[in-house]
Amino acid sequence: MAVEKTKDLWVFIETEDEGTAKSVGLELLVPGRRLADKQNGKLVAVILGSNVAPALEAVKAHGADEAIVVDQPELKHYNTDAYAKVLCELIEKYGPSVMLIGATNNGRDIGPRISCRLGTGLTADCTALDIDDETRPAFGGNLMATIMCPDHRPQLGTVRPGVFKKSEPGEVKDIPVIKEKVEITDAEKRVELLEVINEMAGELVDLENAEIIVSGGRGVGGPEGFAPVRELAEVLGATVGASRAAVDAGWIPHAHQVGQTGKTVGPKIYIACGISGAIQHLAGMSSSDVIIAINKDPDAPIFNVADYGLVGDLKVVLPILTEKIRKYKGL
Ligand code: FAD
Repeated sequence: MAVEKTKDLWVFIETEDEGTAKSVGLELLVPGRRLADKQNGKLVAVILGSNVAPALEAVKAHGADEAIVVDQPELKHYNTDAYAKVLCELIEKYGPSVMLIGATNNGRDIGPRISCRLGTGLTADCTALDIDDETRPAFGGNLMATIMCPDHRPQLGTVRPGVFKKSEPGEVKDIPVIKEKVEITDAEKRVELLEVINEMAGELVDLENAEIIVSGGRGVGGPEGFAPVRELAEVLGATVGASRAAVDAGWIPHAHQVGQTGKTVGPKIYIACGISGAIQHLAGMSSSDVIIAINKDPDAPIFNVADYGLVGDLKVVLPILTEKIRKYKGL
């Protein structure tokens, strides 16, 4: 087990190819701030990547007290072995009390890896965080479990993108920056990245950063039923989301799925069209600022979380709404 040497709370800042911070790392600085203050520790951003100056600027503007930066070419693309080695060495050297990791594909990979190497626990997909307990969904999201990590350090938790909202960037503060270099031999990296293929070229679905999302569910009735959903999304400059029922039916690719087994989103406006409001769908969108539901069933559970509800057939309602917005915007 790694030894706790400080009460510092670390946030893992995953970077993109251009050296920018993935949004979820900046989001986690928000609960990180509260928890670090609660236990009188520093909030430390741990940045791994190559040419990560943009990410460092971002954490300075989002409230980190300190940054630990490992900036070397081998870390440009995520590699399990390389990242695990670097993070474990840093944790053993500095002994933080807690580390939060964004539950991206890479975060879900690195979290268990380092927890096992360090002999500590990991609470995956936390939906709320506190210094003495953590809560995560269990059994398909129908139950929540409070998971405590009393004895092992550091406490590790993954949190999905969109669960917390990032703060507005403030002043770029002049914080202490510790630069580390970690030697990574070829033998230690058992996987070599040969090529990066952008699978989603042509249709990039960026639900996590979308300000407005228009989602369709089983109620749209078929793949062609997404046409009015897309039209409304287009006039609003919104991204198209979907329920799992629509995805499972093959009406729209999985990249659009919102919910427990899809993306967690937190837009300013979420418009749910023909979606009943199952708990697994709500798990992915209930932190949206404003929720608008369109459903022909007045008793649909989605109306319990909606700020505005339209009871009606979406095939009738959506074209009217789209036309009104088009006129309003002078399009
Ligand atoms: P339904 O529940 O069938 O609802 C369709 C709604 O459309 C109804 O309310 C109906 O009144 C309305 N409707 C029908 N016709 C019209 C019309 N013409 N106009 C207006 N309204 C109309 N689901 C997710 O969405 N995301 C997930 O990530 C997810 N993960 C899951 C993980 C697990 C482990 C499990 C067990 C389930 C998961 N689900 C997930 C599935 C979830 O339980 C629901 O089955 C699913 O969300 C239902 O999708 P829906 O609301 O589109 O369909």
